[in-house]
Amino acid sequence: MTGLRAGLADVPTEVDVLVVGLGVTGVGCALDAVARGLSVLAVDAHDLAFGTSRWSSKLVHGGLRYLANGQVGVAHESAVERGILMEITAPHLTHPLPMLVPLDRSTGRAQAAFLRAGIAAGDLLRVAARTSSATLPRPRRLSATEARHLAPVLGEGVRGAILGWDGQLEDDARLVTTVARTAVGLGAELRTRARAVQIHGRGAVLRDGLTGASLDVRARAVVNATGVWAGDLVDDVELRPSRGTHLVLRAIPGLRVALTLPVPGERNRFVNVVPQQDGLVYVGLTDVPVDGEAPDVPEPTDEEIDFLVRTTSSALARPLERSAVVGAYAGLRPLLRADGSTSDLSRRHAVLTSSTGVVTVIGGKLTTYRRMAQDALDTAVRRAGLAARPCTTARLPLSGAAPRHELAALASRSPAPRLVRRYGADAPLVLDAARAATGLTDDELLAPVADGVPTTFAELVFGVTHEGAHDVGDLLDRRTRIGLVPVDRVAAEPAARRALATSTSAPVSRIR
Ligand SMILES: Cc1cc2nc3c(=O)[nH]c(=O)nc-3n(C[C@H](O)[C@H](O)[C@H](O)COP(=O)(O)OP(=O)(O)OC[C@H]3O[C@@H](n4cnc5c(N)ncnc54)[C@H](O)[C@@H]3O)c2cc1C
Repeated sequence: MTGLRAGLADVPTEVDVLVVGLGVTGVGCALDAVARGLSVLAVDAHDLAFGTSRWSSKLVHGGLRYLANGQVGVAHESAVERGILMEITAPHLTHPLPMLVPLDRSTGRAQAAFLRAGIAAGDLLRVAARTSSATLPRPRRLSATEARHLAPVLGEGVRGAILGWDGQLEDDARLVTTVARTAVGLGAELRTRARAVQIHGRGAVLRDGLTGASLDVRARAVVNATGVWAGDLVDDVELRPSRGTHLVLRAIPGLRVALTLPVPGERNRFVNVVPQQDGLVYVGLTDVPVDGEAPDVPEPTDEEIDFLVRTTSSALARPLERSAVVGAYAGLRPLLRADGSTSDLSRRHAVLTSSTGVVTVIGGKLTTYRRMAQDALDTAVRRAGLAARPCTTARLPLSGAAPRHELAALASRSPAPRLVRRYGADAPLVLDAARAATGLTDDELLAPVADGVPTTFAELVFGVTHEGAHDVGDLLDRRTRIGLVPVDRVAAEPAARRALATSTSAPVSRIR
């Protein structure tokens, strides 16, 4: 039996730390706590990365927008965390993303100067965070010819561009899964399909989503990391979520960089067009305040889709056809209610202790999950008087992490460079595990699971054997992201069913 699976069978009923929620914040807290030498149980009502953590832009930000709002401390923290992810803990899951801001005839002198100053300030953040220019190159100005070479879709109107750099994740749900596997490798117990129905400072009542049975768990500290649902479990947290929508395009021919496109008529609002390693392109995003109960899976609206199509089209030589949109997704930002609106002030993360002693960690972003977990566990440890080591996660590589040159060498001799891109130095383990679980040949395991879907059968099998996947949704919507394109999801379903039928989960000693 592994320490990462569905349901509450054999779960420990007394632990040092209980973490509720297995988004990036919750798995970060589980890893932080177990790395301090504490016993940890962490649960999610649904699955790893079921909530907001799979609906992001999949960027590791340097914090430029916070700097624009005068929040120097928050911006610096974001840039520092970006550097830690890219250089120490997750070089395998992150890479530098060139981001091009086109300048055309409609860009006035003042706006061009504003854009240049912004990109230069972003580079200062990198320098202040001590992130190497080998990891994130310095920005530079491009001629019209250079800009069109990197982004032929821009057409003749472009008269130059600014090229800046930020971090890009291989995938947000993959980051969550990798942090989870790292925590389990150190001894944490993680359970999906395990809802906290009631929590207090000394434990919780959990409900097993597989059997419906309830279980009392006692904990010396309880961390509530349930994102937009945090207020359902404790009284003193009030949220005002904001929805962000992205489009998924099959491809934009010739596009080698991300595009940052100013929204016409607005000074400091942009739409990003971001090519992914698999050939898809994500276009986002919107920012729409949401009232009422947070749905399990938010839906993009037609207005948001139209806005993104229109804004992107305004910058391209040929307008984007709505038929080019093969998918769309929406996520809810877990913003604390600030007076007035979804103001940037509320985008800082916060650690709040309830009257019964539950430590809630909320807000922030994917990029800063490690720091959020550190702050939450510092509070929980202090409050409960736990004997724990100091936080070590800034120097703790995630499963599969290795220096970039080693990953490049591994990819060059691997039968499946794709696996190195998604699992880093664990790529050989993925293939070994899939061979052992199924007895299939490497050709069968490394073949795409369906026409036009590059995911391999080995990845689906590994999702079951080593990543706690319990059903087709876990495999297609979170361990892989095939589900972002609904027609691909339908095509890949038979392979997911086959992976679930032919694989069993690995013993705990193999979970690394
Ligand atoms: C559209 C959008 C784009 C974004 N882009 C970026 C980006 O590019 N870069 C970046 O750094 N950040 C980005 N962010 C921010 C980032 O995605 C979030 O801050 C982060 O994912 C929040 O993670 P979380 O773990 O706190 O919440 P969640 O991921 O929502 O996790 C909460 C978990 O709690 C579980 N849960 C809820 N109730 C219970 C219960 N009672 N019992 C057990 N489990 C429960 C849920 O199932 C869920 O899995 C973006 C956010 C949005 C909305």
